[in-house]
Amino acid sequence: MSETVSGEELEKINGYAREPLTEDKVFVFRVALCDNDIDRDGEKFSSGALEKLAELFKGRTGIFDHDPKSSKQTARIFDTWVETLPEKTTTDGEVYRRLMAKAYMVRTASNGDLISEIQGGIKKEVSVSCTMGKKLCSVCGADMYKGGCDHEKGGEYCGKLCYHILDEPLDAYEWSFVAVPAQVNAGVTKRFALREKHEGTDKSYELALAREAFEKDVLRLSYFCKPFMSAKCVKELAELMTVTELIDFRGRLEKQAAENEEVYKAERESFITGDYKM
Ligand SMILES: [Zn+2]
Repeated sequence: MSETVSGEELEKINGYAREPLTEDKVFVFRVALCDNDIDRDGEKFSSGALEKLAELFKGRTGIFDHDPKSSKQTARIFDTWVETLPEKTTTDGEVYRRLMAKAYMVRTASNGDLISEIQGGIKKEVSVSCTMGKKLCSVCGADMYKGGCDHEKGGEYCGKLCYHILDEPLDAYEWSFVAVPAQVNAGVTKRFALREKHEGTDKSYELALAREAFEKDVLRLSYFCKPFMSAKCVKELAELMTVTELIDFRGRLEKQAAENEEVYKAERESFITGDYKM
């Protein structure tokens, strides 16, 4: 998995690094982010989605095990490409394609063990997080975000397997290493695009929407409760919380933000116009 860093790679890496890095300072490795095969949720990315995700994942940060203690141990993607394996076919009979990435880590005194684990292939599986604009039924083409259909995932209709095709990626977020390679394919966390008139009744969809809203609230509120943790730190913590914990945390932050009303007002402008820097 370890690779010698070429001049071209170093140039790309330095496009993201804060200070120019030299060859001996970086550790470069490859990861398979996601593919076009049907996953454990009965969903797959379209080929076009993989191409678009390749662009969206450039520069994205990877974290390890969602462990706040290791939050300083991060890697960054500096190159991506879609790879076709002509000899391999997906469950639905397409030529297998996957989104590959090259990531780098800055070598430090404390990440030697982690680098060895990556080199040894222990931390090989990654999960990615992204927002998709469309989720289409493989049988009839209906978009789940626009009411969906009556076909059920995993079911067979006139010999056709029902699964959902994830299309039109809108954004990509962080990616993370998972300690135990539980799945055949890289684990994929798909966030859902917010649709104004979603008519579906999928409970997990609703819960994901609620969760996303709470996480956003917590992030926003923590910004107004200085001095506090960094946005990145809050974000990672929020991801570890249950929805109940998130609601409680939000309540506490709201209280504190109200006490800092002046600060809140002054910074509201900058928040609305700016974006969080992770
Ligand atoms: Zn359908």
